[in-house]
Amino acid sequence: MRLAEGIRRHGFRKWYERQLLQGHAHLVLTFLCLVGIFAALEGMRGTVGWAERAEEILTALFCAGAGLWALRRYLSLLQGAELAAHQAECPQCKAYGRLDLVQSDASGDRVTVRCRGCGHGWRIEM
Ligand SMILES: [Zn+2]
Repeated sequence: MRLAEGIRRHGFRKWYERQLLQGHAHLVLTFLCLVGIFAALEGMRGTVGWAERAEEILTALFCAGAGLWALRRYLSLLQGAELAAHQAECPQCKAYGRLDLVQSDASGDRVTVRCRGCGHGWRIEM
């Protein structure tokens, strides 16, 4: 979910929390894919013939591809969330994450926000 849409729907803190949860779900998927790779390699031991072996190799390749995708997604979500979190402190009163969306660009990654405490406005860019 884009930053602007997330702030509009849930508020900054909830958006950030959801990004972290979604990112860590991808990390769990990465781990499960790693288990799948090892299971396929272990399954290759007892195979007879090229057809069974090819099946295990395809399973391992699928798990490797899905695992790499999930790891990349995990890192991307975490990096985006941390980048926004470092800019979520009001420069004037130092309140963290207490902000309202004022406007955003078309991509939803550059937003202008306003502090709920003091009304100061600033930009957050991802
Ligand atoms: Zn403020």
